[in-house]
Amino acid sequence: MGHQPDPTKFPYEQTGPFSGHGLAGAVLAETARSRGLSVHVFDAKKPGNASTVAAGMVNPLVLRRFVPSWRAEEMLPQASAFYKAWDKGYGTRTWHPMPLVKVFPSSSEAALWARAVDKPESAPFMAKTDPAELAIPGIPAPHGHGTVPSAAWLDVQQFLSVQREYLMAEGAFNDREVRPADVEETEAGVRVHGREGRWLVHCSGPFSSAPGLVPVKGETLTVRIPGLELSNILHRGVFVLPLGDGLFRVGSTFKWTEVWQGPTEEARNWLLTRAQELVQRPVEVVGQDAGVRPTSRDRRPLLGLTGAHEALFNGLGARGVLLAPWCAGHLLDHLFGGSPLDPEVDLKRFA
Ligand SMILES: Cc1cc2nc3c(=O)[nH]c(=O)nc-3n(C[C@H](O)[C@H](O)[C@H](O)COP(=O)(O)OP(=O)(O)OC[C@H]3O[C@@H](n4cnc5c(N)ncnc54)[C@H](O)[C@@H]3O)c2cc1C
Repeated sequence: MGHQPDPTKFPYEQTGPFSGHGLAGAVLAETARSRGLSVHVFDAKKPGNASTVAAGMVNPLVLRRFVPSWRAEEMLPQASAFYKAWDKGYGTRTWHPMPLVKVFPSSSEAALWARAVDKPESAPFMAKTDPAELAIPGIPAPHGHGTVPSAAWLDVQQFLSVQREYLMAEGAFNDREVRPADVEETEAGVRVHGREGRWLVHCSGPFSSAPGLVPVKGETLTVRIPGLELSNILHRGVFVLPLGDGLFRVGSTFKWTEVWQGPTEEARNWLLTRAQELVQRPVEVVGQDAGVRPTSRDRRPLLGLTGAHEALFNGLGARGVLLAPWCAGHLLDHLFGGSPLDPEVDLKRFA
């Protein structure tokens, strides 16, 4: 089971309440508990939230340019250690190391990869040598392929539901919205719906109106591809992620307008066409999901204080699984240890 809070520290060292139980709220709650702090999570599940539709991939390489994603060298080991410890604590299997195979659409992209492999910053995330042939029946790769060995997949839906049940059983979770009028200041912190804590941390994802936050819509398909057996994530224009039982996730789209519109025919057709270019087998759509990524203008997380006893954990964008563990630790160090926020993630940059 998850980490036990230290009861001797209650109530003065109580971290929560937290509002929002997506990746940000869940990872923050677990990190707080692992430090011996107790929490209380309030969540009102709203249509368009990001985490219930997140594909859960962790890929430390930006696939358009073959450069590492932001601070990948620091983020990846922390993320991997966090989710492994989570699975150990809860007895689950949500974290799946799973190499990503990039199928090159052209010879120029193959050449770009070959140059990046020799660069010291990208090299740690790219396989030095790949077999010339991609030996997966039904996946043509005339221009070759490259592998990102340290990619992974987190089963976000299982991850969230396991923690929700656990916190519920402890009386530390309520399906309830936190509105501004629900927040009362106390001598030592805040009270929300009768729960007191030192900090109310807003983990409300794309529903926040924090300066600098940009909502970016994404859609994915769940498909059945009879006969296709994959042990890796495939990518060419879209990713194809094996879920087991013959099912695959295909994604994702990026859209900056009409973000709350829900699933669209246009996105379904776009994803299906790309999937068919990658996999030359019949593809049957069994599901379609849409959600809104909480992205910041400069693609960095948004962390920091929003009041005397209120803080924000947001801006996880398209890489929430990779970034959340580092961000949670960094924010708690700031809130409880008084250590300064890294200016790159400090929300004050948009003030
Ligand atoms: C289609 C798609 C695919 C994606 N794929 C990946 C991927 O492969 N890998 C990856 O790392 N990331 C992926 N992401 C991004 C990832 O989903 C986000 O980075 C992450 O889920 C953001 O988490 P969050 O907790 O900040 O926001 P959310 O998941 O939106 O969570 C916020 C929660 O707070 C609740 N809430 C809001 N306001 C209140 C309130 N006032 N009171 C109480 N509760 C409230 C919301 O309803 C919600 O439950 C994807 C996103 C999309 C849309």
